[in-house]
Amino acid sequence: MLYKSTRGKEKKIYSSDAIVKGLAEDGGLYVPVEIPVIDQPFNELKDKNYLEIAYEVMSKFFDDFDKNSLLECVESAYDHKFDKKEIVDIKEINDAYFLELYHGPTIAFKDMALSILPHLLKTACKKLNFNKEVVILTATSGDTGKAALEGFADVEGTKIIVFYPKDGVSDIQERQMTTQEGKNTFVVSIDGNFDDAQRGVKEIFSDENMNKILEENNYVFSSANSINIGRLVPQIVYYVYSYLQLLKNEEIKDGEKINVVVPTGNFGNILAAYYAKQMGIPIDQLICASNENNVLCDFFNTGVYDRKRDFKVTNSPSMDILVSSNLERLLYEISGKNENAVNELMEKLSTEGEYRITDEMKNNMKDFHADFATEKETQEVINKVYKESEYLMDTHTAVAYSVYKKYKEETKDNTKTIIVSTASPFKFTRSVIESIGKKCESMDDFELMKELSIMSKVDIPNAVTDLDKREILHNNVCSKDEMKDVIKELLGVRK
Ligand SMILES: *Cc1c(COP(=O)(O)O)cnc(C)c1O
Repeated sequence: MLYKSTRGKEKKIYSSDAIVKGLAEDGGLYVPVEIPVIDQPFNELKDKNYLEIAYEVMSKFFDDFDKNSLLECVESAYDHKFDKKEIVDIKEINDAYFLELYHGPTIAFKDMALSILPHLLKTACKKLNFNKEVVILTATSGDTGKAALEGFADVEGTKIIVFYPKDGVSDIQERQMTTQEGKNTFVVSIDGNFDDAQRGVKEIFSDENMNKILEENNYVFSSANSINIGRLVPQIVYYVYSYLQLLKNEEIKDGEKINVVVPTGNFGNILAAYYAKQMGIPIDQLICASNENNVLCDFFNTGVYDRKRDFKVTNSPSMDILVSSNLERLLYEISGKNENAVNELMEKLSTEGEYRITDEMKNNMKDFHADFATEKETQEVINKVYKESEYLMDTHTAVAYSVYKKYKEETKDNTKTIIVSTASPFKFTRSVIESIGKKCESMDDFELMKELSIMSKVDIPNAVTDLDKREILHNNVCSKDEMKDVIKELLGVRK
């Protein structure tokens, strides 16, 4: 199994190289040359647990990993850090199945991939006899940083440094990060906003002098962002697993098609569903749900990707994005694996801020349906489902459910459908409670969690209980000009 860049200017490499490199040097993303298919009958697979399915799927993509190493990665990732033994949960509510991907250490779906990426990276480095220590550098507006900290904490051969904007994250997010355990974890708040943090990190990645100092000290920088193939492949697993669970529970017949609705930002999660479909999972419609930053929705409906528009801050902030990086991998597939076409489109996006795909390409993405939900629709659907079924969903999941309702209304399609639930309502407590129409200005985030627990009859997740009582372990603060010095000091390479 080999990987190549979507922009085609590099030679084909093994998965371990692709995981260590992250992004291809020609600026493209690594894609499998051939998407593997599931060749065992579903009836034989349906009794396997999450870890077994994870191994089955990942061993097809990462076939240069030896069996025991890959099993070890899977077992180290999906363990007691998740508060469900089954790792994910599927709940039938109203007319849909909610696939809850938020039972991990940070109560959001990024845990599904970020708990295994560090182990894959460590194993890949060993395999390549790469004896440098990997320093993960991340700027975060809250969610990814914490999920990466949890994933990398105490993983041998790695260190992780996370920068966050001092006044740009919620109280809970800040607490989650500053109480992070692990000898190899470092958390630094900066005086500035998220863009300052992100720009600083980007500069450091390409700073020759910094890279030289690191090299002399046997370190190398890497990132944990969502374009790494080691983050994408673990996301295919839960689509395979949930199909098999529905089959096992006799909700569907063997081979029966289902639809999936995915609340989408950077296009990683729904791309994983597309890959699951290519592998042979009977998925009919891939329904792409956007919030008011509806670039993708317009793209699927018109064939034009246009990022030249205002950025909106919504109540589903993890989907507030105007350039969805992983879409490049879909462009590669729908162009018939045509690198030249991908290069041209990406060039247009960076110079003109928009591109148009050919009719033939548009034809090749017929299995996608796309729509968006407004702020108001998102709140309404949270309230409605709570009133009807006492089930509370977070704002991101609500975007998906709202789009699903509109799709059904429009098409009368009654295919059984999975709604991908990407965050716990306890993660976006204030927006969720406000949607139910409760006044909560005077309550702090911790009081709100207690209120939500009573309303939903669900215990506060382990990940956030007693958060206000945990010891603060990180209190580094710096200005945006001091980021390099802080890194040198933390790594003990000061000169
Ligand atoms: C990251 C995120 C998304 C978007 O996922 P993509 O893979 O970037 O499309 C949706 N919901 C939540 C809660 C997220 O954290």
